[in-house]
Amino acid sequence: MSALRDVVEASRRIVFFGGAGVSTESGIPDFRSAGGLYSREAGVAYAPEEILSHSFFVSHTEQFYDYYRTQLLHPDARPNPAHLALAALERAGKLSAVITQNIDGLHAAAGSKRVLELHGSVHRNHCLQCRREFGLDVILRSTGVPRCSFCGGVIKPDVVLYEEALDPAVLEQAVTELAQADTLIVGGTSLVVYPAAGLIGSFTGSQLVLINRDATGYDRMATLTIREPIGSALAEFVDIA
Ligand code: ZN
Repeated sequence: MSALRDVVEASRRIVFFGGAGVSTESGIPDFRSAGGLYSREAGVAYAPEEILSHSFFVSHTEQFYDYYRTQLLHPDARPNPAHLALAALERAGKLSAVITQNIDGLHAAAGSKRVLELHGSVHRNHCLQCRREFGLDVILRSTGVPRCSFCGGVIKPDVVLYEEALDPAVLEQAVTELAQADTLIVGGTSLVVYPAAGLIGSFTGSQLVLINRDATGYDRMATLTIREPIGSALAEFVDIA
């Protein structure tokens, strides 16, 4: 029925690479479009990129968490048709992995098993002192700086902040999945955010599908470009057997 369905039917090993646009239809805005934070005491305004940096986390932990809780945590968000379709494609044996820049855990919530979260997840948190792990509930229930119930240490989300390196193991798995894929579907990202551009270079398959409302620098390389919201572009696969 659609050009995308033809591609999916001809594919044996699809990898999906997604960005913030995949979650906007679940009501999660791209934090880069969020406002910054104005500190009256310091008389300065902080940009989101500054607040979400490692050094800001260390030096202004409480302000970091104020911002993090209100801007990055969306505990009531639910998977949208894009998440559900990708999980269905995996169950149908068509899709081998989802690589995502999102930290909201919605792919797992939709039922996807192999999800490579390049920037970590808000659902995983750990004590900086004793390394014990905590779920999102601990962050949501706490006020101010969340602390470890065992040792009193500061809890940090397993989210890759600015100035922090990506997990090399996750990156390596992403490279391997891309290198083995015959089809790459990219959605909800303009591919400018590190390390997206570099990773896409690992893909050597024959079909590159871009689903994005705006043009990207990769459109010329694509075998199919779809200028539609990602949820509606993938909706036809939600019930794939
Ligand atoms: Zn601890």
